[in-house]
Amino acid sequence: MPAIANRVASLGTTVFTEINDLALKHNAINLGQGRPDFDGPADIIAAEVAALQDGKHNQYAPGAGTLNMRKAIADHAGRFYNLDLDPNTGVIVTAGATEGIFSSLLGLVNAGDEVIVIEPYFDSYVPNLQWIGAMPVYVPLRPPAWTLDPDELRAAFTPRTRAILLNTPQNPTGRVFTYAELKLIADLCIEFDVICISDEVYEHLTFGETPHIPIATLPGMVERTVTISSLGKSYSVTGWKIGWVYGHPALVTGVQRAHQYVTFAAHHPAQTAAAYALSQPGTYYEDFLTMYTAKRDLMMAALNGSGLKAFAPEGTYFVMADFRDVFDGDDVAFARYLTTEIGVACIPPSVFYCPEHAEIGRRFARFAFCKGDDTLRAAGERLAKLKR
Ligand code: GLN
Repeated sequence: MPAIANRVASLGTTVFTEINDLALKHNAINLGQGRPDFDGPADIIAAEVAALQDGKHNQYAPGAGTLNMRKAIADHAGRFYNLDLDPNTGVIVTAGATEGIFSSLLGLVNAGDEVIVIEPYFDSYVPNLQWIGAMPVYVPLRPPAWTLDPDELRAAFTPRTRAILLNTPQNPTGRVFTYAELKLIADLCIEFDVICISDEVYEHLTFGETPHIPIATLPGMVERTVTISSLGKSYSVTGWKIGWVYGHPALVTGVQRAHQYVTFAAHHPAQTAAAYALSQPGTYYEDFLTMYTAKRDLMMAALNGSGLKAFAPEGTYFVMADFRDVFDGDDVAFARYLTTEIGVACIPPSVFYCPEHAEIGRRFARFAFCKGDDTLRAAGERLAKLKR
C-alpha cells in the first residue's frame, strides 16, 4: 500500500475537528470551534441567493475576484482605515482567510527563510510554513495579560527573517495589539526589511474603546504589509469561505501568482453578496458589537461562576481561561474532562505552540462565545459544577 506524503505524515486531524467529534459524541455544549451557531444576516444571504439565480454567477469568477468585490474591499479599507488601495492591482479574493494566508506565504517567502510566528498562533500557520520549507521562529505572548516581551521579539529578528505573521485581534488570546505594540513590530520590520503578513479577520470585533489598528496604517508599513481578512467572522457566514488579501501591488502580485494555482478563483455567487456585506452602514457594525458585547459578558459570567480565571478579551469571540484552581492536569486532559464529564467543549491551546513553549498554554482552555445567549447561559450552569 503506498504511503502518504512526508509533509503531512506527522499531522493529525485538526484540534477543531477532534473536539467537534468529541462534543457530538458526549452531547456537550460546543464552545470549541469558533463557529457561530446562529445565521448570518438575512439580507446578505438573500443577496447570495439572488446571485445564484440570476444566471450570471455560476461559472468561474475572475481569478483575482470580481471587480465589484475588489472595489468593495478597497472602499471598506478606505472607509474604516483610510487606506488607499488599488482594486485592480492591490486586492485579491481568496477561498477564505486560510487560503489567503497560505497563498501569501507561497507568494512571498522562500524556502529556508525565517518567519516569525507569535504564539499562541492559529493552527494552520506552521504546517503552511513547513510545506514551503520556511523556518518558523517563535515568540510567545506572556500570560496573564498576553503581552510580548520586547527583547524576545527583537531577538527573533535576524538577517534571515523574511516575514512576520501577525494576528490582531488575536485568536486565541482575545488580545488586540495596541499602537505601541504594533509600532515595536513595525520598527523591527523596517529595520530588518521584513514583510508583515497580517491576519485581521476579527477586525470588526473589538470591545469598548479598544480600536483595531491595521499595521499597514503605521508609518513605513504600507509597502511591506499584506493584510488578510474575510467575510466569515464579521458577517457570521464562516461556511462561505470568502476571504481577501490586500496590500502594495508589488507584494500582492506574488500572492496572486500563488493563488491562481492554489484555488484559481473563489466562489463566484458569494462575491456579489460579500460586496453587499462590505457596504453595510455603520449601524450594522454597531449592532454586531452590541450583540457580541452581551455574549462576552455572558461568557465572563459563566467563567467567573466556575472558578476559571480569565481576563475579558479586548477582541475576537474567544477567551482564554486559566483552570489551575479547579483541575489538576494539562490542557488536553482538561478539555477532555470538560467535554465528557461537565458537558462543555473547549479547545486546549497547547496545540498553538511549538513544543518548547507548549508549557505556557498547558493551564488554559480556549472558549468560543459566538453562540446563542441561551447556549452561553446553559454552559454557565454546567461550568458551575467545576467550582471546588
Ligand atoms: N477560526 C476557527 C477557530 O479558531 C476555526 C477554523 C477552523 O476550524 N479551521 O475556532
